[in-house]
Amino acid sequence: MAPYKLAGVMGWPVAHSRSPVIHNHWIAEHGLSGAYVLLPVQPERIETALRALPVLGFAGCNLTIPHKVAALAVVDRVESLAQRIGAVNTIVVEADGSLTGRNTDGFGYIQSLLDAQPGWKADAGPAVVLGAGGAARAVIVGLMDSGATEIRLTNRSWAKAHDMAQEFGGPVRAIPWEDRHDALAGAALLVNTTNQGMHGEAALDLRLDQLPVQALVSDIIYVPLETPLLEAARLRGHVTVNGLGMLLNQARPAFAAWFGVQPGVTPALLAKVLATF
Ligand code: NAP
Repeated sequence: MAPYKLAGVMGWPVAHSRSPVIHNHWIAEHGLSGAYVLLPVQPERIETALRALPVLGFAGCNLTIPHKVAALAVVDRVESLAQRIGAVNTIVVEADGSLTGRNTDGFGYIQSLLDAQPGWKADAGPAVVLGAGGAARAVIVGLMDSGATEIRLTNRSWAKAHDMAQEFGGPVRAIPWEDRHDALAGAALLVNTTNQGMHGEAALDLRLDQLPVQALVSDIIYVPLETPLLEAARLRGHVTVNGLGMLLNQARPAFAAWFGVQPGVTPALLAKVLATF
């Protein structure tokens, strides 16, 4: 029998997380012995909590708000991808009890596009990224590593878009927020990484009239599953991708690292997660 393994998600608050549903489904599906639990950890306790993982027999954990950046300074090594993204969403406890910080959000985002459109190619045309927060960094690194040749980055606060474009360089170009409607001309991909359109927030203020109808439109928000942006895009005939695919796919490499099994996003898993909405 496989050894009993624990994993979990540290956040504050964390009660809303769907990650236990996802990982516990995979544990059962693969006949493994273990559990994935909620770990409510206050911001000032993150170091103590992470250092307790090997003591308590955890294979690792996920990190969510507000721990993703703070963990960079705590872990023993940070994978280069997480370093570039500037955040850790997955901790792996190594055999010697040391902690490795990884980031699987960029992988999750790219995989969600491929799931929706198997022939999707990052270099099919310009990508427009709305927002320059933490999630945008993972999306942009994912797009760059997939071969994007032009990334138009626009954000309400100009300085953040400008600084991020300077930092990443290459295909990333900052565009003033007031020019975001025109920035859609000729684009092959539009992605919303702002919180606008999320449950409780105003809808994103964006006109789609310049966006070619072949463009893929994605929103990394998953509550609601169809944001006003995605609804408007669907009505214009675009293929749309919601944030659930990113959430499900970012979990796959983490699970593989902890449990040694590569899990998949099956209809049964999707049904179980959708039942939580
Ligand atoms: P964040 O770091 O706080 O960034 C928030 C972004 O939203 C910033 O670019 C901010 O612009 C922008 N924004 C806030 N209010 C705005 C407004 N009134 N008008 C225009 N822009 C506004 O948050 P985050 O961690 O990047 O998360 C962003 C979203 O992604 C959240 O909805 C989150 O749920 C979602 N997310 C989804 C996944 C997934 O797996 N699907 C993973 C991570 C995050 P300023 O810079 O001007 O403030």
